[in-house]
Amino acid sequence: MKTAQRKVVILLAVMAVMVLTVLGACSASSSTEASKENKQQRPILIEGPMPIEAENFAERLEDVEVEKSGTFEFYIGTVNDYPVIVAKTGKGMENTAAATAVAIEKYNPAAIINQGTSGGHDPNLNVYDIVLGERTTNIGSMKTGDRDEGEGIAPKEWIPMDLMASEGSAGEDPDAENIRYYEADEDLLAAAKAVKDVHEEGKVVEGTIGSADVWNNEVDRINWFHENYGTSVEEMEGAAAAQIAKGYDVPYLGIRILSNNKTNDGEYDPNTAEANQEYVYEVVKQYISDQK
Ligand code: SAH
Repeated sequence: MKTAQRKVVILLAVMAVMVLTVLGACSASSSTEASKENKQQRPILIEGPMPIEAENFAERLEDVEVEKSGTFEFYIGTVNDYPVIVAKTGKGMENTAAATAVAIEKYNPAAIINQGTSGGHDPNLNVYDIVLGERTTNIGSMKTGDRDEGEGIAPKEWIPMDLMASEGSAGEDPDAENIRYYEADEDLLAAAKAVKDVHEEGKVVEGTIGSADVWNNEVDRINWFHENYGTSVEEMEGAAAAQIAKGYDVPYLGIRILSNNKTNDGEYDPNTAEANQEYVYEVVKQYISDQK
């Protein structure tokens, strides 16, 4: 090869390396872009148990598609171009736990809000007030006292039973005799606090949400939970969703409006369900804009 030819070959080789390097950098940066975008695209999941507690929010979604799994309905859409899924879970702990796990496995949500109606445990809270669940706890998971036949039943002696304390027997394990509180995610709580003022029909406060497949109408029992568990309200879903969200490490917040309050004669009002969804819609918009 002549010197001139050799120079051309070397030049071509150098150019080829440069082109490959630039191409490589481009594809690396576009794949980071893509993964960033995918991450941003993880949906926010909004759960509501009854039709009146989910459909109002679902109607506010854009570009909605409905998917079903068992008895659960998922309304898959967007709010301000951000993916949001409304899950109509059905009532109670089992439905909620299962719907939450199915939604996490299918849709990989970035955050979960479980919302709906509730019964007041705090006499300072009125129908239409909203509780942001700084903590959520299961008020149906308990161990009774030791009593022989004929010795009666004494619910005030029952003690909490934490089924997540260990993999061993909850009945024998003294570590399980504690109240398990699921803490709210800080960013979700901050978004909810930031829009408190939009809810004009009542006040919005931070508190403790208690859940069980029980509707308590005994005021002495309600007061007992209020004193011993610090509950602000009771409902039938939150602790189930919070437990599963924690298991999968997904940020969680419970938001509950009082539809009734036995401790101050607050009569049941089903229209509270819609008012709560209006507030939660504002929380979601705030959370979305906080993420940008
Ligand atoms: N009162 C309604 C039935 C509601 S069933 C009726 O008669 O049609 C219970 C649902 O309401 C659950 O999803 C639960 O989360 C919520 N709820 C509202 N107030 C409650 C309370 N005081 N105790 C338990 N759940 C309550």
